[in-house]
Amino acid sequence: MKVSKKKPVQRVKHVPQRTCVGCREVLPKRTMIRIVRTAEGVRMDPTGKLAGRGAYLHDRRECWERGLKGALAHALKTTIRPDERAMLENFMNTLPQEAIIGETL
Ligand SMILES: [Zn+2]
Repeated sequence: MKVSKKKPVQRVKHVPQRTCVGCREVLPKRTMIRIVRTAEGVRMDPTGKLAGRGAYLHDRRECWERGLKGALAHALKTTIRPDERAMLENFMNTLPQEAIIGETL
């Protein structure tokens, strides 16, 4: 009997990985939302192109809650002002409460 040893060729592409400051999971950065500290303050960066110190969060409310408790400010090495926090919480409230089905054990 002949056993084929041929495996499908996997082309490994370099995918930039980022850590979610809420849950510390490392994932491709396109699945994350970038928060950036600019000269004007902390803001969201949907394009991922703003200059400044950035931090990443999942599009999951759980991660934002944890991030807003301190991890985000720590990652950005800044203090989040009340108006910035309100803006971030506003966005957080549009996110799904639950993790994607099957992701939690
Ligand atoms: Zn996360």
